[in-house]
Amino acid sequence: MIQSSNKSPKPERIIQSNPKGDETGGLDISLRPKSLSEYVGQQKAKEQLKVYIAAAKKRQEPLEHLLFYGPPGLGKTTLAHIIAHEMGVNIKLTSGPVLEKQGDLASIITNLKEGDVLFIDEIHRLRSNVEEILYSAMEDYAIDIMVGKGPAARSMRLNLPKFTLVAATTKMSMLSSPLRDRFGSIIKLDFYTPGEIESILTRSAQILQCDMEKTAVSMIAGRARGTPRVANRLLKRIRDFADVLHQGSITESVSRESLENLQVDHLGLDQNDRLILSTLIEKFGGGPIGVNTLAAATSEDENTIEDVYEPYLIQIGFLERTPRGRKATEKAYQHLGIKEPGVQGRLLV
Ligand code: ADP
Repeated sequence: MIQSSNKSPKPERIIQSNPKGDETGGLDISLRPKSLSEYVGQQKAKEQLKVYIAAAKKRQEPLEHLLFYGPPGLGKTTLAHIIAHEMGVNIKLTSGPVLEKQGDLASIITNLKEGDVLFIDEIHRLRSNVEEILYSAMEDYAIDIMVGKGPAARSMRLNLPKFTLVAATTKMSMLSSPLRDRFGSIIKLDFYTPGEIESILTRSAQILQCDMEKTAVSMIAGRARGTPRVANRLLKRIRDFADVLHQGSITESVSRESLENLQVDHLGLDQNDRLILSTLIEKFGGGPIGVNTLAAATSEDENTIEDVYEPYLIQIGFLERTPRGRKATEKAYQHLGIKEPGVQGRLLV
């Protein structure tokens, strides 16, 4: 059945939180750095991890549980893979919302081997009943689960292999403190500098065997929102334009033309960012308004606004998170070419 909708189609997203899409193919796997030395940037995080890994190896113990936090696409999952690789163990990947029942988590952990890494993405979305058994799994390497129902129900203790939990979250504030306290280390990932993004793009272009002008590298880096996932995504799209419409080479003019075509502006904002800002300004007088109202007015998912769009808009000073809601700043008005109410033209004396 073909469903009809009177909503206008949403533009395709360059910036998204979901690592699936065009990243899940073999292509992305080849772009993911496999060792800490290949992993660009995040110096502080890398230094800490090097020590933890070396210490665990020296003591022949599993690594302590680790929590990474930061906006999507900064390399949290990649680090989990690298940790497993450097420790020489297997990794099992899952995510908070997927683990519905206690048994779901129990069956994954019981299938791990000593020292293996369990990666739980979006751990802030873990249900409370599952979180409850995760405490003892992390602390005592054992869980008590209920078997049977009604009066016949009884608790059964399962011993688990000594595994390492590597978890990731985009919303640190949503984690309960008992869960936070059970991690040996909590590591924050920051947006990358343009220079670091340039290194990531150069590396990716080499792997993808595409020829790219230096000026094109800096142009794309400037629009990648300090995020490796966005940088790689832009590179792949621009490579398509270069292959189909030009001779395959990513020159500065090919990049400029492709970025215009993708409607990514010189700050890396796409149509959705601009829609969020213009809705806030034009429909709500610049705010403050609640994120749920903004989500409804832009037909966007609340979590996506909070996790994907907001962090960068806040970082570049276009949006403010106030106790009464989201507010557009003067910079946002200027970027969209809209006059801020109450702002008078400057008096020349
Ligand atoms: P997150 O889990 O934080 O959402 P990912 O680990 O999935 O982010 O990273 C997104 C993509 O960006 C990866 O597939 C990888 O190709 C690339 N990437 C991330 N961090 C780095 C880095 N430090 N150096 C090189 N490439 C990176």
